[in-house]
Amino acid sequence: MPIQGKVYLIGAGPGDPGLVTVRARELIELADVIVYDYLANSKILDWAKPDCERIYVGKSAGRHSIPQDEIEEILVGSAIKGKQVVRLKGGDPFVFGRGGEEIDELQIDKIPFEIVPGVTAALATAAYAGIPLSHRDYSSAITFLTGHENPEKHTLSIDFRVYAKTKGTLCLYMGVGQLPRITSELKEGGMAGATPIAIVEWATLNRQRSVYGTLDTIVEDLEASGLGAPAMIIIGEVVAHRSKAEWFEGRPLFGKRIVVTRAREQAGQLTQMLSEQGAEVIELPFISVEQHYDGQRVSEVLAGIAVYEWIIFTSANGVKNFFELFYKAYDDIRCLGPMRIAAVGAATASEIEKHKLKVDLIPKQANADALAAELIENEGVESVQLLIVTGNQNRECLVERLESDEGRAIVDTLPLYRTRKTDLSQEPSAERFRKEGADAVLFTSSSTAKSFVEQHESLKLEPGARKPAFGSIGPLTTKTLNELKVPVAFEATQASLEHFVVEAISQIK
Ligand code: SAH
Repeated sequence: MPIQGKVYLIGAGPGDPGLVTVRARELIELADVIVYDYLANSKILDWAKPDCERIYVGKSAGRHSIPQDEIEEILVGSAIKGKQVVRLKGGDPFVFGRGGEEIDELQIDKIPFEIVPGVTAALATAAYAGIPLSHRDYSSAITFLTGHENPEKHTLSIDFRVYAKTKGTLCLYMGVGQLPRITSELKEGGMAGATPIAIVEWATLNRQRSVYGTLDTIVEDLEASGLGAPAMIIIGEVVAHRSKAEWFEGRPLFGKRIVVTRAREQAGQLTQMLSEQGAEVIELPFISVEQHYDGQRVSEVLAGIAVYEWIIFTSANGVKNFFELFYKAYDDIRCLGPMRIAAVGAATASEIEKHKLKVDLIPKQANADALAAELIENEGVESVQLLIVTGNQNRECLVERLESDEGRAIVDTLPLYRTRKTDLSQEPSAERFRKEGADAVLFTSSSTAKSFVEQHESLKLEPGARKPAFGSIGPLTTKTLNELKVPVAFEATQASLEHFVVEAISQIK
């Protein structure tokens, strides 16, 4: 029996992809079609299959959102074709999310469906701001309210005076536009002017911002802060009893915007490390790295792999590509032979160690020259056969030095990938950089620095954008930046991602 089409109405949580449920992730991975809107973090779409159709139905600059009946048509139409359709909604689908209307339509058309709850904005905001929503001493009721039932409607049917009397916590969705009216009704209803209020914009994302005030002051406080939608408003005594330690907004790089310049395939780890420290990361991949090799040459080298006494890896990427090809040719790691292994840099070494292979030599300084010097001085490479696994750049100096009178080694190279400059001018992340700027741009290699300078014109900052400081991962990158006349504000004390992040924390003020 063919699999029937089905619609999964899924809560995508408040923004932080880590707050999506396991069930939601499973279904996103299986989906043929994903229909999503403004508040669902588009990063979670990366979990979908490559051929999954992604349909954006939210608001965007200069365009209204797709009308509700058209969204319902898309859901029904796709399910009738036998597709597994995921309808992603910010937070929880049944909390001010029009989930009920979509389900009604599915029932009329007899489309099978499933509902997956999500972490709603009120709960997420409370957690990320450290505000307990209930408290045995101050609040025994929690109310979810909307300040805006329908964008076309200007009047509110809710009488906020009634809610002034709950003596509990009020969580107000979509309330910033109506705040003056809501606060005056709460006052009319008898709520004390000193009642504390929190407003949190983009909660759970590293761009989260918050403002605190009281019923008397919050309208002015909000205006002065410049915060806007989407924001959650929490009203009640519990706000004053929030945790003093700000676990989320207090992280060292919170409020800082940092540009990561590595190739898209390699940026993940640095992005993750900076995000964990609270930074908002913009990825501008100034270079791309792709597998590129001569098949004949790879076959020859792998067939004779056991003749080499040393195999030298200059990058983690080289290691990955090498083992991918190696395992295609052999199914036993012992086919590598009894060779010794050298690696430039800790990241390269740890990629090798994933194969349960010990690295015999890692030069103290993470560069090719230091590696050549240590091999020649400490190991002696005269008449020794060496294989260098590398990319299309920066390999000549290593080969020359090892083959020179100083070394007299017999060197073969195996280039497996190539690094290319990318054109970022049309990328949305470049647009964001031009508009908002950043506190720092981190360069992890000479090639990204060169590509950055070449694209400088198309990355010109708009007035008001933050002017970044430039950071370098190590001496070689710094040297290139100096040659390019890019002022280097800081350099990692050791050329590793960990040290780079530590340096960024201490330097970006
Ligand atoms: N179904 C969603 C709510 C949709 S209504 C949920 O369960 O969370 C949209 C409103 O939700 C916004 O105007 C804002 O008030 C709130 N909201 C959603 N995501 C938010 C976030 N990350 N930070 C603050 N408020 C958010």
